[in-house]
Amino acid sequence: MPLSWVDIDLAALRHNYLQARRRLSDSTQVLAVVKSDAYGHGMVPVARELALAGVEFLGVSKFWEAAELRSHGIGLPILVLLGVDSADMEEAIRLGLRSVVYRLDDARRLSHQACSIQRPAVVHLKVDTGMGRLGVPWEQIGSFLDNLLGLPGIELEGILSHFAVADEIDKSFSEWQLERFTQVLHLLEQRDRSVRYAHIANSAGLLDLPGCHLQLVRPGLMLYGSSPSAALGGPLDLLPVMSFKARIIQIKQVQAGATIGYGRTYVASGPTRIATIPVGYDDGYSRLLSNRGQVLIGGKRAAVVGRVSMNMITADVSHIPHAREDDEVVLLGVQGEDRISAEDIAEWCGTISYEIFCNLGRHHFKHFHHAAA
Ligand SMILES: *Cc1c(COP(=O)(O)O)cnc(C)c1O
Repeated sequence: MPLSWVDIDLAALRHNYLQARRRLSDSTQVLAVVKSDAYGHGMVPVARELALAGVEFLGVSKFWEAAELRSHGIGLPILVLLGVDSADMEEAIRLGLRSVVYRLDDARRLSHQACSIQRPAVVHLKVDTGMGRLGVPWEQIGSFLDNLLGLPGIELEGILSHFAVADEIDKSFSEWQLERFTQVLHLLEQRDRSVRYAHIANSAGLLDLPGCHLQLVRPGLMLYGSSPSAALGGPLDLLPVMSFKARIIQIKQVQAGATIGYGRTYVASGPTRIATIPVGYDDGYSRLLSNRGQVLIGGKRAAVVGRVSMNMITADVSHIPHAREDDEVVLLGVQGEDRISAEDIAEWCGTISYEIFCNLGRHHFKHFHHAAA
């Protein structure tokens, strides 16, 4: 048994995908976002499971992620969200990848490659409707389209944009982004062109803004069982996919006044039982959880006391007298009646569940199984 490991429940993943699917009409397809190693859940097994469950499209950030999916025999259409570097364009075309485009020079290079190998370069045009990050500014889309549509070898399959605040209760900015996006689609119509896929919805849009589903939605986070925001109304019925577990490697009794860990930031106020757990910030357990985090031992919550070190933490198990060395510790997930969610950990360290998943997922040992009913 390793010192610590990540469990991935593929049945829960499938369940969450079906929760997304049941909110969509038959004319809307699903692009599952599996970038960043499927938010730390393991890109290839996750993509395989979702393909079996009926997902039509996959989305990654980078070319090499898409190439890796292909090398594992995954044949679904894949959209490369950050676009493809010139060095990789020819291979991307050969692999049938869809590249996001937002720069005309990239589009021209793709066109050139497509013509030279006589295969179409399939692209999705990214429009910035208010996120202020990636994409052609929506005011400039008319002239961009005029240039893009004239390029030989380019097949414009999709147009996409991205929401900035779809996870907030106030939907006015998202509605406004959607309105701008619709205007962009009109510009295309005026040129007697259309795309197979217009898409703007992330998980929050999918769950909370049904008018934005269009032909394709791009959920990431909800597939992994986490809600994009506590502000989203209604029961979501999502199941957590990732658990993070370890084993107690030592238990010791300390006396009042003893200090625990680097910096001596924790002082025992009375006789205290301390469990040492072989997980630290190098294992994705943030140092911000020092004297703040909680873990489950023997079905009970135990507080992280003292600083998180590189590969160890210490927890107070004074109230869990049956806790023993080699007992299982749940840092993320369910034990007994209790559960620590990614949202809990995110709140303790002032971040979002996305980052918790990515950090824990970089962990070496991942076990894949089908547990959820
Ligand atoms: C990451 C990403 C998504 C998925 O967002 P979630 O909030 O995880 O659902 C969708 N679209 C784009 C362009 C992304 O980069």
